[in-house]
Amino acid sequence: MGRHLRNARAKEEQAARISAERESLHARLAALDRRRALRERGPLTGDNTPTSDTLDTAQEAIAKEENLAVRGAMIERLKVLARADEKIREGTYGMCEACGKPILRARLRALPEAILCVPCAEAEEHRPLRSR
Ligand SMILES: [Zn+2]
Repeated sequence: MGRHLRNARAKEEQAARISAERESLHARLAALDRRRALRERGPLTGDNTPTSDTLDTAQEAIAKEENLAVRGAMIERLKVLARADEKIREGTYGMCEACGKPILRARLRALPEAILCVPCAEAEEHRPLRSR
């Protein structure tokens, strides 16, 4: 009984951490998109000599690419967080999505959105990336 209660509370805490994380990610994503919209709108200030133009364009391209990578990572993380949230509602939170075994508590404490156990997560990471 006591143990059950503690578990329920722990689950609530994890749920709260997950939704806080989702909110902050959403906010960061929105900020990123705002910054990008601003940058894409303007002609940038500065002189118009061809050299600086070329440089600006290159820097712009790099910034854009970094932005996209960051954005992609955020969106991936949001997906995982949403799935963890779902698992809490389903009552499968703390169980590995791939093998169904319980996920270590220490892992869940460190990474509330963990939906894979350590071996499965490692297998996932080492899987070659699908076509980009
Ligand atoms: Zn697993």
